[in-house]
Amino acid sequence: MSTKIYMDNAATTPVRDEVLEAVLPYFKEKYGNASSIYSIAKESKKALEEARGKVAKAIGAKPEEIYFTAGGSESDNLALRGVAEAYAHKGNHIITTKIEHHAILHTAEYLEKHGVEVTYLPVDEYGCVCPTDVEKAIRPETVLISVMFANNEIGTIQPIAEIGEIAKKHGVLFHTDAVQAVGHVPIDVEKMQIDLLSISGHKLGAPKGIGAIYIRKGTKVTPLIFGGAQEKKQRAGTENIPGIVGLGKAVELAEAEMEETTERLVSLRDKLIYGILEAVPYSRLNGHPQDRLPGNCNISFSYIEGESLLLLLDALGIAASSGSACTSGSLDPSHVLMAIGLPHETAHGSLRLTLDRQNTEEEVDFILEKLPPIVQRLRDMSPLYEEAMKQQKQ
Ligand SMILES: *Cc1c(COP(=O)(O)O)cnc(C)c1O
Repeated sequence: MSTKIYMDNAATTPVRDEVLEAVLPYFKEKYGNASSIYSIAKESKKALEEARGKVAKAIGAKPEEIYFTAGGSESDNLALRGVAEAYAHKGNHIITTKIEHHAILHTAEYLEKHGVEVTYLPVDEYGCVCPTDVEKAIRPETVLISVMFANNEIGTIQPIAEIGEIAKKHGVLFHTDAVQAVGHVPIDVEKMQIDLLSISGHKLGAPKGIGAIYIRKGTKVTPLIFGGAQEKKQRAGTENIPGIVGLGKAVELAEAEMEETTERLVSLRDKLIYGILEAVPYSRLNGHPQDRLPGNCNISFSYIEGESLLLLLDALGIAASSGSACTSGSLDPSHVLMAIGLPHETAHGSLRLTLDRQNTEEEVDFILEKLPPIVQRLRDMSPLYEEAMKQQKQ
């Protein structure tokens, strides 16, 4: 069965037609190395700087504050390791949260092995970080606060501007992993007082393996990769011009269409969420009901295994996720669902459907028709469910 309905856009998105069209020339006729001086190289250099301008504009930054990387993971690693090292003389404490992507969490764990102290803030039942908790966690030796803009599993959007204000007030740098947010929700690094911000191409219709980091002017970040003088020596290596052009194009399109896309997606998302909650007993929505990404639906079904559900959905041509794509294959329940207080069994029975611009109302209707009987079928096979129903009758 091939995939007919793709609802795993938080894992990755297809490259948009307009993006593909924009990048193709940079693989063939415009292949110059942007660091060289002949004409064909100048075309690459021009494309590089145009893309930088587009990315900067989308988040309210200056072009010289944008550095291209190989993706969200690299940007996250660079933010944490680069700031920890550059500011080691000032302090050795970092504040982050329990619900970050592994690109942040595993980097923080690595830093802990190298003398950095890390505070992992809890979140409430909706997955929100409380700004007061951030403020309370600040110590004289705190050098960085890293709180994700929007969560990739449950879609919750954090109070970023409030956290930015606190960081600023205490003279602490503020990084946000905005991989799920860029091109999906409005961002302004000035208004929100963000000092570093991670971007990834493949979550917004650009190719995989391209990303960027915004670093506020004057912020010191020790590079991860040394070599040539590209990206003002902040990130060596011949620039991935096709990827960079694709990222610029995707961000530009997403910005221009954001209002319209958001309105459409929120209505599809809510139809999906409330349709499922209504049709399936013992189900609950994960994440914040309003402060959530326009395309994110994450629901837990008691008494079933998310993995079995995914297989049955796949058999119908529906691509979904039971948590984070990066942790599929592992038996541990999602750290995000644990952090919002779900019991193990409930966390295991969770389904993430993430919509994007290519999804349609017909697809939502198809899922609303097919999903409830599948959940019931799985429950009918579940000893846990049988036991629970017996107890209810008593
Ligand atoms: C996908 C993702 C990343 C990693 O980005 P890559 O480009 O795949 O390395 C980091 N953080 C979040 C929140 C993500 O969703």
